[in-house]
Amino acid sequence: MSNTVIKVSPKTIQLMNEHYSHSLLEKKPPGAIFTAKHNGCTITAYHSGKVMFQGNNHSEEASNWGSPVVKQGDPIKHQTSGNPLPRNLSSLSIIGSDEVGTGDYFGPITVVSAYVDKEQIPLLKELGVKDSKNLTDTQIITIAKDLLHIIPYNLLTLHNEKYNELQSSGMTQGKMKAILHNQAISKLLKKISPITPEAILIDQFVEADTYYRHLKGQKEIIQENVLFSTKGESVHLAVAAASILARYAFVKAFDELSKKVGVSLPKGAGHKVDQVAAQLIKQNGKSSLKHLAKLHFANTEKAIKLI
Ligand code: MN
Repeated sequence: MSNTVIKVSPKTIQLMNEHYSHSLLEKKPPGAIFTAKHNGCTITAYHSGKVMFQGNNHSEEASNWGSPVVKQGDPIKHQTSGNPLPRNLSSLSIIGSDEVGTGDYFGPITVVSAYVDKEQIPLLKELGVKDSKNLTDTQIITIAKDLLHIIPYNLLTLHNEKYNELQSSGMTQGKMKAILHNQAISKLLKKISPITPEAILIDQFVEADTYYRHLKGQKEIIQENVLFSTKGESVHLAVAAASILARYAFVKAFDELSKKVGVSLPKGAGHKVDQVAAQLIKQNGKSSLKHLAKLHFANTEKAIKLI
């Protein structure tokens, strides 16, 4: 339920109590001084000095008494790891990096690093670039087709044949992702040179320490100005753009795989996936899955049980 919370002095609570004296409710939650219902808005004052307004016109009603301590639609809480994020990060010229497909049984992993100059931020907003989780595949395709011509990017696709090889040699998916991000960023830096981004933001999938541990032994490790944040798409549009391009590449590769096997492959890793995998094993044998699916997922065993 939408609400507004303000913090006020005991004196104000007393004034409020008098003001709402005709609308007081008998039942009040523990710790509450009073609860009132006024024009469809429930007002509850607590001993802590917090007053919560819920329901009709909650913010207007609250504004009569004080300013909110917790605003509705407060920025999403991000977790960052490694270097702290600069306050003005969202308005800098940066490389954003994100991946898609890691939780899908079928289809590859796609990683995209994209460079967004600060001058392009308004244009990207205009094109509808935002968190790809809030976009349909159709919207993603439309936006991606614009983006391809507007921003420099680098796409890496890890197909399942290779994925399964690496996985069975003992490499974790986390390590694969770290290597892919590092490579995608490195290639993009060369592409945009002599421009250097003001920061590089990776949509965080592991702690910074783990990320760099995964990269040990790599020829080139990009570390300067590299930042990590969860929900990076909402920190900077470069990550949102990278995520859209990665999703676009994933969807395209996915459709091609579907065409190749003549079956509409389901996304994700749910029961539908088990069923389709079972059908494919029956038709073409288990080995046919190695270029289609991430074999170590539990779906493989589940599919075999279904047969
Ligand atoms: Mn991500």
